[in-house]
Amino acid sequence: DELGEAQHGVVISRFGQHADVEGEDGLSYRCNLRRSIKSLVCGDKVLWRQGKETEHSIAGVIEAVHDRSSVLSRPDVYDGVKPIAANISQILIVSSVLPAFNGDIIDRYLVAAEQTGITPVIVLNKVDLLDDSNQAAIEAQLQIYRDIGYQVMYASNKTEQGIGELKEQLKNHTSIFVGQSGVGKSTLTNSLMPGLELITREVSENSGLGQHTTTVARLFHFDHGGDLIDSPGIREFGLWHLTPQEVCHGFIEFSEFLGGCKFRDCKHIKDPGCALIAAAEQKKIHPDRFTSFQRILASISENKLTSRFND
Ligand code: GDP
Ligand code: ZN
Repeated sequence: DELGEAQHGVVISRFGQHADVEGEDGLSYRCNLRRSIKSLVCGDKVLWRQGKETEHSIAGVIEAVHDRSSVLSRPDVYDGVKPIAANISQILIVSSVLPAFNGDIIDRYLVAAEQTGITPVIVLNKVDLLDDSNQAAIEAQLQIYRDIGYQVMYASNKTEQGIGELKEQLKNHTSIFVGQSGVGKSTLTNSLMPGLELITREVSENSGLGQHTTTVARLFHFDHGGDLIDSPGIREFGLWHLTPQEVCHGFIEFSEFLGGCKFRDCKHIKDPGCALIAAAEQKKIHPDRFTSFQRILASISENKLTSRFND
C-alpha cells in the first residue's frame, strides 16, 4: 500500500480540490480528498493518510471527516448556504471607542452568533481612548450586554491593557474575530500572533495552488494556546442576510415574551397586543435593544435581497 497509517488531522485551509491538513506531527500536508467527502472546510477534523513523498505529488489523502461541533455558513447564490469554517467555539465581537461603540452592529453580530450556537464574547478595543467624554456612555451600553449574560472584555493594542486576559480567553478555543471595519481586528490579531503576517506572506508567495489560501479561511495557532480561524469573508460574518425569525431568536432575552403576543403572526413593530412592545415599555427588556431589534427587522424587510447591513 502506498499510503501510511490513518491519523488524525485538522484542515488548515481548503481550496479547489485540495486541503492543507495539519498532521499529528504538527506539519502541514497538501491532501487530496476521497470522493466520498461531500463537504470539507477549514477547521474540520479529519482522518487522513500520508502518501509517498515525491516532489510534485500531493502529500496525503483525506479519508473521512469527523462530525462538526459547529459550522459557519454564508449565503450562496447556488447552494442557499455554503459552509466556510467548522468547529469554531467562540466568536469575539470586536467593538471600539473610535469608531464609536455601535450597539446596533453588536446586536447584528449577536443575532448571527446565536444562530450558529457558537458562544459570542464582546470585546471593547482601544480602551486607551476612553476619557470623560465617552466612558460613562460606553460603560452603560456594555452593562446592557452583561445584564443579558454576555461576557464583555477590554483591550488596547496601545497600552496592552487586557491583552493578557484575552490570551487566557483564547486558550482551548477555536475563535474568530468579527466586527466593523476600523475597530482594530487586524492590529489585535497581530499583537496576539506576531507570526501571522509572516505566514500570510509565505503562503501568497507560493505560485499556483497556494495563491488562493490568502482569501479562503485559514486556521492559525496562537503561541499561548488556542486557534484562530480568519479570512476577509469570516470577518464579514454577521453582516449577511438574516431572516426575521433569526432576528427574533437572536435577541435571547426576548424569548420569554415572544409567546405572549396577541397575534400569532405579530411583527413586533407596532402590532396591537405585542408582548415585546409591552415588555420594552415596562423596561423588562432594555429599550435600546428593542429599538435595535426593530431597526434590524425594518432593514431586512426593506431590502430582502442584499445581505449587507447599512450603517
Ligand atoms: P480592522 O479594520 O478592524 O482590522 O482595524 P485595524 O486593525 O486596521 O485598525 C484600525 C485603526 O485603529 C488603525 O489605525 C490602528 O492603528 C488603530 N488601532 C488598533 N487598535 C488600537 C488600540 O488599541 N488603540 C488605538 N488608539 N488605536 C488602535
Ligand atoms: Zn409582538
